[in-house]
Amino acid sequence: MINIFQPCLGKDELAAIKKVFKSNWIGKGEFVTEFERSFAQHVNCSPENFTTTTSCSEAIFLASELFNYNSQDEVIVPSISFVAVGNSILAKNAKMILCDVDPYTLNVRAEDIESRITSKTKAVIVTHYGGFPCDMDSIMDLCRGHNIIVIEDSACATKSFYKGKACGTIGDMGMWSFGAMKVICTGDGGVIYLKSKELVEAAKELLYHGFPNKQKSGMDSSNAGNDNWWEYSVNRIGRRAFLNNIAGAMGVVQLNKLDGFLLRKKEIYERYCRELSEYNWLTLPPELREGYVSSYYFFWIQLEQRDELARFLREQGVYSTFRYWPLHKVKHFQQEEAYLPNSDFASARTLNIPLHQALSDDDVSRVIELIKKFGTRYI
Ligand SMILES: *Cc1c(COP(=O)(O)O)cnc(C)c1O
Repeated sequence: MINIFQPCLGKDELAAIKKVFKSNWIGKGEFVTEFERSFAQHVNCSPENFTTTTSCSEAIFLASELFNYNSQDEVIVPSISFVAVGNSILAKNAKMILCDVDPYTLNVRAEDIESRITSKTKAVIVTHYGGFPCDMDSIMDLCRGHNIIVIEDSACATKSFYKGKACGTIGDMGMWSFGAMKVICTGDGGVIYLKSKELVEAAKELLYHGFPNKQKSGMDSSNAGNDNWWEYSVNRIGRRAFLNNIAGAMGVVQLNKLDGFLLRKKEIYERYCRELSEYNWLTLPPELREGYVSSYYFFWIQLEQRDELARFLREQGVYSTFRYWPLHKVKHFQQEEAYLPNSDFASARTLNIPLHQALSDDDVSRVIELIKKFGTRYI
């Protein structure tokens, strides 16, 4: 099977994990600190604005606490969002206000958000679809004008840039995923960016039982100058959701390889663009505008016979899928009546096809040939 996404892990990551085992400290420690520092460097920001957590979903839920969504608040999100975005809003009894997206990039636009703004709007959660940057200038202008918090779900936008700024660092908060299928992989993991340093401190406490950050290692801090090291204080209701050294060590190695991964994915993305452009029954992703840099996480095509092509590819050993099934089509979110024509259009026609750094040129040729074959047989 040719996978749609795939991690690239090997002996370098194993060697890094070995170092962690030898250090005898597997919990959060120096490897995590190094990972945070290196990540910040990759996105040209100060490490003080970052912290790590167990997953990007955890970071999305954390936003609901840091910004205190409550039952009087409305949070606007594009219907084409990851499931955790919806759940994080409902978890706080806030109102999830769904908006539409651009039918071809599947990204939310300022005009989509604007049509949903009321005096109760507290925050907007945008998603950079498959690493393709949203038009952040117009979104930031709109939201700043209405005092609305901007959160960027950059799960797949690792090293995507918009006019020189990293996606995830433009709004008030951003988060990235290092789960099993993302741009880089730490097993599970997430990084959080917060514009406000005070919120970084609050985030760290929330992710570690509410222990004050000054209480260096939480409980049992005998080496932190505390003679009664079994005592502790708690500042707020916290959970336990920090990254450990095993993940941190993998992350450092993966970050060293990141630019190579991105180059290879760009090469494949551009080959798809070139070689699939001759089929007029397919729509390809729009071109990246000046100043847009993508992580090339998704490649997507749009066609009327999407379902048939997906099944045909699966029969031939090629996995494809559609991300993200719109929230208004999921019963749990109770918004099945929502009128979101572009989301409906995109969710009926969009297919994500294999794009990852482990694909060989032959794999890519096979995907392209199968799509062509499908066209001659069925279109
Ligand atoms: C994968 C993904 C997430 C969740 O990331 P995890 O680290 O798996 O929790 C959130 N948002 C988007 C857009 C994603 O693709």
